[in-house]
Amino acid sequence: MKRTMERLYDELMKDYRFREGMKTCINCGTCTAICPAAEFYRYDPRKIVDTVQRKDDAEIVALLKSETIWYCGECMSCMPRCPRGNAAGLIVMALRELSTRLGCFVESERGRQLYPLSKALNGNVLQYGYCVHPETFTIEAHPEAGPVFAWHLAHRHQTFARLGAPYLQPGPGALRKIPQEDLDELQAIYDETGGTERMRHIERLSEQKAQEMGMTPEEYMQYTFEHCSPGHFNTD
Ligand code: SF4
Ligand code: SF4
Repeated sequence: MKRTMERLYDELMKDYRFREGMKTCINCGTCTAICPAAEFYRYDPRKIVDTVQRKDDAEIVALLKSETIWYCGECMSCMPRCPRGNAAGLIVMALRELSTRLGCFVESERGRQLYPLSKALNGNVLQYGYCVHPETFTIEAHPEAGPVFAWHLAHRHQTFARLGAPYLQPGPGALRKIPQEDLDELQAIYDETGGTERMRHIERLSEQKAQEMGMTPEEYMQYTFEHCSPGHFNTD
């Protein structure tokens, strides 16, 4: 019988990404040296892989509640460089999945961003058939897009028409109206694959956390989207 302290390691082993990404780490640090996220964030994939391979439940729980597992950009630059065939990026994907499933994600600022992300991206997919859509993209929420994009957004109907793109209309091309039967099919895929239940799970736990933080779900959504405490970046 397995020791109790390996329970979470066993859970991770059920995830094919973890089995693919976790061999044996020799702590060489090559993944951290190549990692673009480590350039900006206080992030060290070597430490994540080393922590996980110790199979200690308490240490894995600390990781699941941490900011660090949300810094990875999933670029997979680490994968071909590891001399032992590990992939920190795949291990992080499995940790994020477990963190979400066990509700640990609400304990970190970056993890709490799952709420606005899930609502915005999945909402767009199910309503429009695109994960990002001009109808729900506001320049107030994304000032970094700049004045040229702001102008384009404000005049999108005219500019798409001049380009010959049937914006929000039936026909071929990007940002065309996706037929309702295709949107229904997308909804069915979400329902069948567990996506709908996963969205509800994130919403349920996030709304509980909002209450705990004394916020309405709307305030929590805005706060988690905008707020960034000091301590995430190497330059902080
Ligand atoms: S490159 Fe591979 S062996 Fe080296 S620290 Fe990273 S995961 Fe471990
Ligand atoms: S996949 Fe993640 S850990 Fe690996 S190099 Fe990219 S950002 Fe770094």
